[in-house]
Amino acid sequence: MSSPTLIVGAGLGGLAAAIRLAAQGRRVIVFEKNERVGGKLNLLERDGYTFDTGPSLLTMPWIIRDLFAAAGRRMEDYLDLMQIDPTCRYFWPDGTNFDAWQRLPQLVQEIERLEPRDVTGFYRFMAYAATIYGAVADTFMLRPFDGLRDMLDLQLMQNGPRIDALRTMDAAVRSYFRSPYLRQVFNRYATYNGSSPYQSPATFNVISYIEFAEGGWYVRGGMYELGRALLQLAQELGVEVRTSTPVQEVCIEAGQTRGVCLANGQHVDGAQVVVNADPRYSYNGVVGSGPLVQGQPATATRLQRLEPSCSGFILFLGIKRVYEQLRHHNIFFSQDYQREFAAIFQKRVPAPDPTIYINASSVTDAHHAPPGHMNLFVLVNAPAVDGRVQWEREAAGYRDLVIRKLERMGLAGLSQQIAVEEIWTPAELESRYNAAGGAIYGLASNNPFVAFMRPPLRARHARRLYFVGGGTHPGGGIPLVLLSGKAVAERIALDSG
Ligand SMILES: Cc1cc2nc3c(=O)[nH]c(=O)nc-3n(C[C@H](O)[C@H](O)[C@H](O)COP(=O)(O)OP(=O)(O)OC[C@H]3O[C@@H](n4cnc5c(N)ncnc54)[C@H](O)[C@@H]3O)c2cc1C
Repeated sequence: MSSPTLIVGAGLGGLAAAIRLAAQGRRVIVFEKNERVGGKLNLLERDGYTFDTGPSLLTMPWIIRDLFAAAGRRMEDYLDLMQIDPTCRYFWPDGTNFDAWQRLPQLVQEIERLEPRDVTGFYRFMAYAATIYGAVADTFMLRPFDGLRDMLDLQLMQNGPRIDALRTMDAAVRSYFRSPYLRQVFNRYATYNGSSPYQSPATFNVISYIEFAEGGWYVRGGMYELGRALLQLAQELGVEVRTSTPVQEVCIEAGQTRGVCLANGQHVDGAQVVVNADPRYSYNGVVGSGPLVQGQPATATRLQRLEPSCSGFILFLGIKRVYEQLRHHNIFFSQDYQREFAAIFQKRVPAPDPTIYINASSVTDAHHAPPGHMNLFVLVNAPAVDGRVQWEREAAGYRDLVIRKLERMGLAGLSQQIAVEEIWTPAELESRYNAAGGAIYGLASNNPFVAFMRPPLRARHARRLYFVGGGTHPGGGIPLVLLSGKAVAERIALDSG
């Protein structure tokens, strides 16, 4: 029997690569250190409450449909996707709120309520961002882009001026919107790749464009249904998935990748190794876990210097009542957004006045909480772990600060309503997924060149070693990670001639 392709990690990137490679007729084995597949898309079930622990919003669902189609299946036979409307309800400290409707007439009414002149601004913004989307979709997202050499690509050079990379997201947003509230709403999309709107290039205005133009989606039953469906599809295609099986090291001899060494001491030979684990961890290790790829100090140092995306401070709250003002997705904004991002990315401390995201999936899926109760997934952007914040000391105090802010902003008596509670700090995210710094999205996109600095899909120092997922090309977030799986499978097919 032919040597299998080995995949380290069953995150969405690893599963997508496994499905694509199996659909090419390859034998594939996936090793996952945790007991469940899905990586950062995962699940917590406690005392009748169900929480998605990672992604809560899906964009570009056609990328999932395409993945199923590549395996000769229909996505609709595995998953029930639905649009959430309004996509998000926003709350400000002064009592203002805003519903981001998917339906255009309602959305326009909401914009008009905040600032009538911004209705035209919104249409102009969407036309501008559509141009960026047209320019980046083919060159950056939809093909196996492989690092710096592709920068010389003619089409990319021609598209350069259209992608608005030389001013910040905030500068562009300001030029279209007058309302400080709407500026904050549109700036927020930098956090979809773990970055700051005051540093990341305006190119990333494409993120809000995609959500407003194509919608924000949810998987009925919970986001983890996506993990289950991809596992089922992979197994139907013959992929062998070994959970609770950490890989200790990728075996490389004289520049040739030979296979992997498992933590239990077993060696498994492979024709190729695809690493879905975070590349920064893979070359440098994280606390309590050494590097997967040894003996590459230059690559390790180079990756260590790149800025990680922000991490997250998460509260899982099962509560004994329903707050009627909450929608499925909710944002409680900070007073001073610029100060908040300066705390996270410059001072690298938890923001004293954080923006708080609440995902209450029980609004849509009633069985995610007991009757008359709610499941609140509360997420605050936090600096990636670098030793400056001692989370074991800080967590309880920061938790109180977050709860108090939510109480002030309308969730009266929240602290008395908590029946179930769990806290995950950035340090927890780091150790759970071997994600260096607990970074949610791999690298931050706080400069225009980061797309060219990401570790490439194909390692340069070892033949038949590849990377897939949020830490490599094209970046973090469900759609991009799934595209990464497509890109690496295409690259392997090309390399195998
Ligand atoms: C709190 C949070 C909220 C988010 N919200 C959204 C959202 O709303 N929308 C969105 O699109 N994206 C969101 N994201 C981002 C999204 O979840 C990620 O970009 C995506 O899931 C990453 O997938 P991946 O395959 O690259 O990596 P991962 O999910 O990190 O998978 C890597 C896998 O490798 C495994 N692994 C690591 N080391 C080893 C080893 N030595 N041996 C074996 N296995 C190993 C890990 O356990 C893990 O399962 C969110 C992420 C988080 C954490």
